[in-house]
Amino acid sequence: IANEAEAPCSTKLRTADGAEISLSINVNDLSDIIGIDHAGIEGIGLLRTEFLMSSAADIANEDRQYGIYRQVLEWAGQKPVTIRMLDLGGDKPVPDRDGTSFLGLRGIRLLLARPEFLRIQARALLRSAVHGNLKVMLPMVTLPSELEKTVTIFREELTLLQRRRISHRMPPIGIMVEVPATAIMLDTFGAAEFFSFGTNDLVQYLTAAARDNAAVADIYTHAAPAIFRLLEHTVHIAATLGAPVSVCGDMAGEPEYIPALLRCGLRHFSLAPAQLAVIRSQITQLNADGTMAVEK
Ligand code: PEP
Ligand code: MG
Repeated sequence: IANEAEAPCSTKLRTADGAEISLSINVNDLSDIIGIDHAGIEGIGLLRTEFLMSSAADIANEDRQYGIYRQVLEWAGQKPVTIRMLDLGGDKPVPDRDGTSFLGLRGIRLLLARPEFLRIQARALLRSAVHGNLKVMLPMVTLPSELEKTVTIFREELTLLQRRRISHRMPPIGIMVEVPATAIMLDTFGAAEFFSFGTNDLVQYLTAAARDNAAVADIYTHAAPAIFRLLEHTVHIAATLGAPVSVCGDMAGEPEYIPALLRCGLRHFSLAPAQLAVIRSQITQLNADGTMAVEK
């Protein structure tokens, strides 16, 4: 994929009172980055790999995955590309079986239950890491042991690649914060190298209102005060751990929520490319505490 932007990196985005803010993009499909000028963005904050694979055969195909990840990393140059491991289950279909529930085997739970798929994806990621600035993100993490087991599998696969003399690199591994227990207990996830709030799921699990059920949409959308209390609490813990924290749920692309996200101390947002322009211009008109800047 040609990157049409060879222009030098544009000046940094800042709030009206000078706080630095970074905007990255969420990518669901390779077509999402065609024609995107990466000069104005931090990188890819979330690549949802489940939409890149439409069959069990695709999930089992290490070389196909490696080829796709390499293409995206090369497009991004040295900018960070956060690739999320398969988040199958819940609202996303699982090839070769009926979907699983939002509260069942989903995301990292499903991968740890089917470690052959985890290992294939880990190898494809380890191999692709030499082609750019890769970060790997785990979905639906609830327990520190899920992170530890996954890191162990990455290390085992790395040793195998080493033995086979296949070039590879260990990427930083971070987690989605989208389960309330994970947010509350964030201090127990010191092994994570970065955090990203998945507010789409965090809201649904916090309110017990499914994200895809129109009958409870009102409860889901009016959860903002509860979610912001939780975010504020969690951002403080992340700061004590010294790990970077971002938001990649849809809230990061919705102007009505940006002031409150800033007030919680959040500075890194990953959003759909279509929302970049509106959020960029909004941020220049706000102060870092989320208040409107007074025009001089
Ligand atoms: C989220 O839950 O907010 C998120 C970004 O992940 P997804 O929407 O893919 O579940
Ligand atoms: Mg999610």
